[in-house]
Amino acid sequence: MSLMLEVKNLKTGFDIDGEIYHAVDDVSFSVKPGQILGVVGESGCGKSVMSLSVMQLLPKGIGKITGGEIKFQGKNIENYSSDEMNKIRGKDISMIFQEPMTSLNPVFTIGSQIEEIILNHSTMSKAEAKRKSIELLKQVGIPRADQIIDEYPHQLSGGMRQRVMIAIAIACQPKLLIADEPTTALDVTVQAQILELLKSIQAKTDMSIVLITHDLGVVAEMCDDVIIMYAGKIVERTNVDNLFHNPQHPYTKLLMASIPRIDEEVEKLTTIQGIVPSLKNMPQLGCRFVDRCPSAMSECSKVTPKLTFIDEGHEVSCLLYKDCNTREGVS
Ligand code: SF4
Ligand code: MG
Repeated sequence: MSLMLEVKNLKTGFDIDGEIYHAVDDVSFSVKPGQILGVVGESGCGKSVMSLSVMQLLPKGIGKITGGEIKFQGKNIENYSSDEMNKIRGKDISMIFQEPMTSLNPVFTIGSQIEEIILNHSTMSKAEAKRKSIELLKQVGIPRADQIIDEYPHQLSGGMRQRVMIAIAIACQPKLLIADEPTTALDVTVQAQILELLKSIQAKTDMSIVLITHDLGVVAEMCDDVIIMYAGKIVERTNVDNLFHNPQHPYTKLLMASIPRIDEEVEKLTTIQGIVPSLKNMPQLGCRFVDRCPSAMSECSKVTPKLTFIDEGHEVSCLLYKDCNTREGVS
């Protein structure tokens, strides 16, 4: 089966005072049709920049893809013009963000915002687009859909706005949905409903989902496979079962030890000391986790680890694992 999304050696840089700093540095992963891939890491680890790169939504004039390839259904899209990208964005690849209030336009009705995306990507008449919009609102569990359609974003609750965003995202039946912290701004019960909704849409349509989150509970609930990012690089890639029962990278182990578990008795939750290095202070050589790693060795600041196969479907980037080292400095 061909891949839905294939990202190879992606590098995305930001221009800060005339110098390029890489927020995503040599990241490779793929997503199969129907797969839900979790992307996990603390804020500032490059998760959102990675997804904005795929969507070509990086801040203009500041963020730039400086290397690598992005293939969607086998076609390279990293060099698409904005016209070419506009044709697939919202139609074949959609995105939902954390805060729907900033993604919905406050001065247009809910209906006109859903209709716009339908009209942009189809030959439907305005009346047909309106009917379809009402259908979509019903599909995402919005009551009184025929009235809500004429309301404005501020008239809805946060959970309802996120449902509207999902309706917009799935309006054209995309093959790939990128969801960046889709439930972070919502309270726990609404969060569970939104995740349930995404899951049921995925099951019915078989679209692929890249789910970006810092919440490991969301990963457990939703994902098949997961990549763990740290300071612009992937440090571990595995399935969700391994993530919870057999994590290998010291960072992943600490992340797992920092969440409450119902399946194991834990005496004390761990906190990860220190912070992710800032873009300007990213170590160019060695492991980027070295300052925070409880297992750090002297070579960790001299040799850059490389993402390496350790078991079927399981890769890790840490010098504790033989074969993970590369003397060239940049993995
Ligand atoms: Fe820790 Fe060294 Fe592995 Fe980095 S390479 S995670 S510093 S042991
Ligand atoms: Mg983010």
